[in-house]
Amino acid sequence: MNKNIVIAIDGYSSCGKSTLAKALAKKLNFIYIDSGAMYRAVTLYFLRNNIDLENSKLVKEALNNIHIDFQTLNNQTLIMLNGEDVSKEIRQMHIAEKVSTISAIKEVRFEMVRQQQRMGKSGSIVMDGRDIGTVVFPNADLKLFMTADPKIRTERRYNELIGKGEQVNIEEIFENLTKRDFQDTTRKESPLLQAQDAIVLDNSTIDEAQQLEFALEHIRLIDK
Ligand code: C5P
Repeated sequence: MNKNIVIAIDGYSSCGKSTLAKALAKKLNFIYIDSGAMYRAVTLYFLRNNIDLENSKLVKEALNNIHIDFQTLNNQTLIMLNGEDVSKEIRQMHIAEKVSTISAIKEVRFEMVRQQQRMGKSGSIVMDGRDIGTVVFPNADLKLFMTADPKIRTERRYNELIGKGEQVNIEEIFENLTKRDFQDTTRKESPLLQAQDAIVLDNSTIDEAQQLEFALEHIRLIDK
């Protein structure tokens, strides 16, 4: 494969998109970009600075003051918000509770999509999110649309957060997932939907190795 390859992974909250995207990027030596982390970093900035979400002038000004980038340290990808490592804080519940509201704002999406498209020019990439195959890279070489039973997703997210030492309860996680899915699929600006040419991957009953193999099989077909 000589040209830059783009793999777009979209789907519902906590379907394991980033697990698959990271594994693919590692295997193929592609750049991995977690677009959800970018919306979470914007959310953190807006909350910290009490930005009035109704005021598009203030929202635009705030966006001009936000610089997001990814850095690699000891094999870990860190997300930097204006030079500060916010990788841990953006995973907390207070961010999860607000991120779908803030990511529904037109100006926020416009700016994030612009930055994501620019990142896509730097080499072959795997990007995961909600609108990657539909809006950010409509010509992606491979589009996967991930889904899984909400109960299984809740358990996986619960175990992940508990493993990281977060104090969470399982009902709160279930509610957050279902609420975010509702907000993400029903918003006006680029809602989460399956691209017509996306391949569905339901990982309710398969493990990480199997989903990686599923994706690799489809990647082998690219350019053939
Ligand atoms: O992927 P993750 O669950 O971290 O994303 C957090 C939230 O960011 C999603 O629930 C969604 O509201 C928003 N998002 C989005 N578009 C993307 C990626 C994430 O609207 N491409």
